[in-house]
Amino acid sequence: QNTIYKKPEWLRKKITLSSLREVEAIISKGKLHTVCQEAMCPNIGECFSRKQATFLILGKECTRHCTFCNVSKEIPLPPDPDEPNHVAESVEAMGLRHVVITSPTRDDLPDGGAEHFAKVVQAIKAYDETIIVELLIPDLQENEAALKVIVHSGAEIIGHNLETVPRLYHIRKGAKYERSLRVLKKLSQFNPAVRTKSGIMLGLGEKEEEVTALLQDLLDHDCKLLSIGQYLSPSSEHTQVVEFIPPERFEHFHDVGMAMGFDFIKSSPYTRSSYMADEYLKS
Ligand code: SF4
Ligand code: SF4
Repeated sequence: QNTIYKKPEWLRKKITLSSLREVEAIISKGKLHTVCQEAMCPNIGECFSRKQATFLILGKECTRHCTFCNVSKEIPLPPDPDEPNHVAESVEAMGLRHVVITSPTRDDLPDGGAEHFAKVVQAIKAYDETIIVELLIPDLQENEAALKVIVHSGAEIIGHNLETVPRLYHIRKGAKYERSLRVLKKLSQFNPAVRTKSGIMLGLGEKEEEVTALLQDLLDHDCKLLSIGQYLSPSSEHTQVVEFIPPERFEHFHDVGMAMGFDFIKSSPYTRSSYMADEYLKS
């Protein structure tokens, strides 16, 4: 049974259409996709004024079927060899200083797309090595060779999202909580110079003690950067929101996590993995 709900006051941020159009003009030239546009992300005005954006590489089609996600479930195409240069050209045209690169899960590719990720990082760094690059990767099925390619790509931050507490992993089709934790740990082990980051959504029915246990699991796997945001359902066909979490609860989890030992946590209803991404490195 789908529920029709009205968003609470704190979730009525308006999307800035002028920012959206500005991005569209640049992005469409390179046949690229940004999560900012695809998701019509309401943070777009703030992120673009901070010279930040999130590119979706390796196509828009995913080989997994998470019930909370709006990505297309069609058969994916092979990686586009021109994409790394197109991303770098768009980064230049948009004057970006902090770029987040993510992809759908590509279980069809032997390395999950790791080499392609690395080529995108190298193309951006070849244009300007001072641009901070953050990768938000799928679990790559814990393929160690692929994870090594990722951690030695030159990216400063590598993120992999746990998304939710283990009891609710039925919404993350094909994913395993323990495997995602091991992926985070291996990223740090393979290159201690990179900062690892994760992200979770609240509002799916998780309990206080489950969130606290997840925070401890992240710390136990050397992950000390975290984003916490409100889950919003893309449509009535997707997993429905169980609860709209008030801003004070986000502040509460921020304070709990920082007291437990995190270096930086961004936690608010509108937080997304890539929101205010430049703040994490200041920690
Ligand atoms: Fe783009 Fe992420 Fe900012 Fe949204 S939060 S506009 S997806 S960079
Ligand atoms: Fe969406 Fe990622 Fe799940 Fe694919 S693996 S359906 S991109 S959340």
